[in-house]
Amino acid sequence: MPPRTRLDGIVIRQQPIAEADVIVSLVSPHEGRVDVLARGARKSTKRFAGGIALFSELSAVIEQGRGHLPTLVESSLGAAFLQMTPQYGQLALASYVAELAACASQPSHADPGLYAWLRASLALCETVNEQQLRTPRLAIEVGFLQALGVCPDLQTCGECGQDTGAGGTWQDADAGLVCTRCLRAGSETLSPALVRALVLWTLSPAEPPVDALAASAALHVAEKRVASLLGHVAPPTLRSAVALRDLQRFQV
Ligand SMILES: [Zn+2]
Repeated sequence: MPPRTRLDGIVIRQQPIAEADVIVSLVSPHEGRVDVLARGARKSTKRFAGGIALFSELSAVIEQGRGHLPTLVESSLGAAFLQMTPQYGQLALASYVAELAACASQPSHADPGLYAWLRASLALCETVNEQQLRTPRLAIEVGFLQALGVCPDLQTCGECGQDTGAGGTWQDADAGLVCTRCLRAGSETLSPALVRALVLWTLSPAEPPVDALAASAALHVAEKRVASLLGHVAPPTLRSAVALRDLQRFQV
């Protein structure tokens, strides 16, 4: 019998193939990105009683057969995010999270940090109001940069090395923050509350600072810098980003 292994992971993509089969893409904390073939999954929902729904956390048994992909033998459900009649905006944001995870995850590459971000971000998507996607999106993006290790240190001034607790300016995306003592006249300042919220989020990725961000001024400055950093690690044309942009067009 071909070897079987157990695998925990979150479903980030489902791709129907042939008549009845589905390729399920999982992100696992210890195995990275794993694509498995779920035979017959489209024919009968009973085939995998635990479910293989998008955005759900599975404990799966897979079999390394002769084919190119391992086969899903059985699955049991852990947390299921966005399964109970989610709003369109919540789904759009969760799709964005899944697409970012797909860009960043690699086969056979353990990344518990990315997994923790993915899990916390999907949990966040469940709670957001679809009329206010701006701050959760920013929190998700900052957390993503942090998980990839490409978020600049927001806690320390890039020029004098002192704490940025009193706020600062973020002129150059890669260089990080410059504190209020060092900043030049005319630059747009991020409020202390905004800096604190971003720093806290990068320190404890399980608690997105959505409320603190929502109360902050100069959010657009942080958004621009974060977008520029994201440009280094994700393609500019994610499908879900287009859907989000349309949704956010009329939101403040
Ligand atoms: Zn300084």
